Amino acid sequence: MRWERDVPLAPLVRYRIGGPAARLARPQSMAELAAALRETSGRGCRVLGTGANLLIGDSGVPEPVLILEGDFGTIQVGATTIEAGAAARLPALAQAARRNGRAGFHFLEAVPGTLGGGLRMNAGSRDEGLWDRVEWADAVTPEGELVRIRPEVAQPAYRRVGVPADWVFVRARLEATPGEYDAVRDAHLSFRERKVRDQVYDLPSVGSTWKNPGSPHPPAWEIVDSVEMRGARVGNARIHERHANFIVNLGGARAADVIGLMAETRRRALARLGVTLEPEIQLWGVEPAQLALVGAV
Ligand SMILES: Cc1cc2nc3c(=O)[nH]c(=O)nc-3n(C[C@H](O)[C@H](O)[C@H](O)COP(=O)(O)OP(=O)(O)OC[C@H]3O[C@@H](n4cnc5c(N)ncnc54)[C@H](O)[C@@H]3O)c2cc1C
Repeated sequence: MRWERDVPLAPLVRYRIGGPAARLARPQSMAELAAALRETSGRGCRVLGTGANLLIGDSGVPEPVLILEGDFGTIQVGATTIEAGAAARLPALAQAARRNGRAGFHFLEAVPGTLGGGLRMNAGSRDEGLWDRVEWADAVTPEGELVRIRPEVAQPAYRRVGVPADWVFVRARLEATPGEYDAVRDAHLSFRERKVRDQVYDLPSVGSTWKNPGSPHPPAWEIVDSVEMRGARVGNARIHERHANFIVNLGGARAADVIGLMAETRRRALARLGVTLEPEIQLWGVEPAQLALVGAV
């Protein structure tokens, strides 16, 4: 494994936005991951999946960045489980469940990203998250210790999980009970159809910008709409007309454009509605003052 320097990150993330990584490595195995963590200990390593939930700052990321590849990409379907490496793609997991008639994975249809990113974000729908299917997940600590984590310890919640931010997920076993084949397929296809119709797949985005604030507040898209930000544009970033919780890159957008839209939306939501919006997206390589403007600190 070798470290590359000044690696452009925009082509590696879904948003196609952001500056370079000062250092980037692609561990192919547990041994290479352990070596990378040893070499970077104490320097706040970052793990990148496909950047489907990530805004990279325009100046790039000073911390070392790791992308898991090779051995981490496997998917094995067992009698009542699906076991996969952290680099396995969520759409491939959804497809494995669908093709093998395993119930309970329809909510992963059309969710881009990797299993590792999905575990970190507890990816899913409003009602269900990936951790609802986890039997265990293995993670490596910055000191190189392999820890098996069960859901009762991880205490997953809406778009978060109680696992230290610097632990690297490497593998997980998901409970995948056989269901009735046609019913499983129909659940997947109808979920996918609804999601692709209602959300945005034809322009680069990173999905929902804001977490839903929860009862008694309306969903985030409705808040963005009611503070008259739907369709707003800064530079080459725009709040989408169809789904007001998506900010899209119209081509050549900068992180500063996205942050400008987020800051104004958050300011209006607080001033007009008394609602504090919290970002669902992760931001890397962004100045603390700007993080504060969007509520990411
Ligand atoms: C069109 C669209 C639709 C979407 N729909 C949904 C949806 O319905 N539900 C939903 O929940 N999300 C949705 N998202 C967001 C995104 O798909 C998920 O958050 C996904 O889990 C991100 O995975 P990733 O691998 O790309 O993670 P990244 O964006 O690369 O990283 C996200 C976070 O996970 C961490 N991470 C990545 N890999 C690891 C690892 N191996 N170990 C530890 N931490 C890791 C990163 O460090 C970062 O903090 C959508 C995004 C798009 C663009």
